[in-house]
Parts: sequence; C-alpha cells; structure tokens
Amino acid sequence: MKKNLIAGNWKMHTTPQEARELAQKIAAGNPQNAVLCPPMTSIAAVAEITHGTAIGLGAQNCHFEAKGAFTGEVSPSMLIACGCTHVIIGHSERRTLFGETDELIAKKVWSALDAGLTPLFCVGETLSERQSESWKSVIERQLKAVFAGADPDNVGGIVIAYEPVWAIGTGLAATPEQAEEVHVFIRTCLHNLIGNPASDMLILYGGSVNEGNARTLLSQPNINGALVGGASLKAEQFLAICAAGL
Ligand code: PEP
Repeated sequence: MKKNLIAGNWKMHTTPQEARELAQKIAAGNPQNAVLCPPMTSIAAVAEITHGTAIGLGAQNCHFEAKGAFTGEVSPSMLIACGCTHVIIGHSERRTLFGETDELIAKKVWSALDAGLTPLFCVGETLSERQSESWKSVIERQLKAVFAGADPDNVGGIVIAYEPVWAIGTGLAATPEQAEEVHVFIRTCLHNLIGNPASDMLILYGGSVNEGNARTLLSQPNINGALVGGASLKAEQFLAICAAGL
C-alpha cells in the first residue's frame, strides 16, 4: 500500500484572484494526486479551475453541525455544495491558536465523513513533547479521541496527517527515519483501535516538505503522501512535490 496524496494547505493566503491564478498554474501541470485547500473565500474561485480535473478541493476547517446559529462557521454540506471533496481538521494551528480540543476535533471528523467529505485529520507533537519523549502518548491520545469505539467498516475514508508541530513552517522537516518511525507507530495504534482497515489508511507527513526533501520522505513505506504548507503556494514547487510522490 503506497498510494500518494499531496494536499496543499494555503492557510490564510490568496485573494480569489490570486487563488485562481495559482490553481490555474497547478492545473496546467495536470497532477493526478493533488488536493488544493485554499481559504474559504477562495474555494469558489478554485472550484472553477479544479472542476472536471483529477485535482481535489479541500477546506481548512468546518463546523460539526449541518446548519444553525453558529456565526462565522461553515458546515460540511456547505463545503460539498461549493465543490469540496476534502477538509483539513485538527491542524495544530487550530488546536493551539483557536483552542480546538480532541473532543471537538473528533466531532468534526465524523461529521465531515458522514457528510461525504474526506477528512484530513491532523495529529502531532510539540517540540517539548518530542524532547520529553512523550510524543507516543500525545499521538495515541489524539488518535483515540477519534477512533476509540469507531465502527471499523466506517473509517476507510479518513486520512491521517502526521504533522510534528516543531516542523511546521520552520524549515526543519522530520528526517525520513523520524517520520517513518511515527507513521509506523500511528498505524500500530490504528490497528489496535480499528483492526485491519488500518493497513489501508493513508498517513500523510506534513512539516516543511519541499521539492528537495519530498522524494526521500515519500519513499518511506508508511508515508502515503504529504500535507504541504509554504511550498504549496508556489506552483512549480508544489508540482515537483506531486511528481515526487508518483
Ligand atoms: C502545514 O501548515 O500544514 C504545513 C505542513 O506547513 P509547512 O509545509 O509550511 O511546514
């Protein structure tokens, strides 16, 4: 099992016009394994470009309810209506800057999956958690919040993204060996929680992936793709990472 998925997290960058131009440049390269995750206000513009191509379209967050009095929020079914296929959930910036808890993230993952989106569910440890050797318990806790008690027949559509917080936006990616060790640990935890479907689940690596390090990271047996921040804002770099995954 080695399918590759390369998701670009554009974070709070691009106006609709800028997003359209960036998506056009990426679509011109005809990537077969890409998902673009622009800010909410640029989703419609990017949908015009990705529609009818192999490129997936993702949001960076969603609410767990389908509709209601939740000012400023957007539901999974609204994202689908705008052409989305994927949604990033539990990114470390949502956890640390916006106080998202494991419990809230679990509700979002299940709500997105039930609505028909592919959740890109992020887990990962901080630098102090890595230095204190507690990364295993942190990641196990994050996984349990979503998968404990889950119906194994209903988990196949969830994609995990391992994103060590110390590697995000720092230029200091995990080494391929470090990342592979955690991916094996994640797959083992998933096996304990949901059994056999864990073998087929995609586990992406995220954290300072670029065109220079993508190939060695993506060649690891348990790394099934990448979640890319900074380098996804440059079409050539993002396309090079997509190519490295094939
Ligand atoms: C991210 O924000 O998901 C990310 C991986 O960012 P970067 O690639 O810039 O480290």
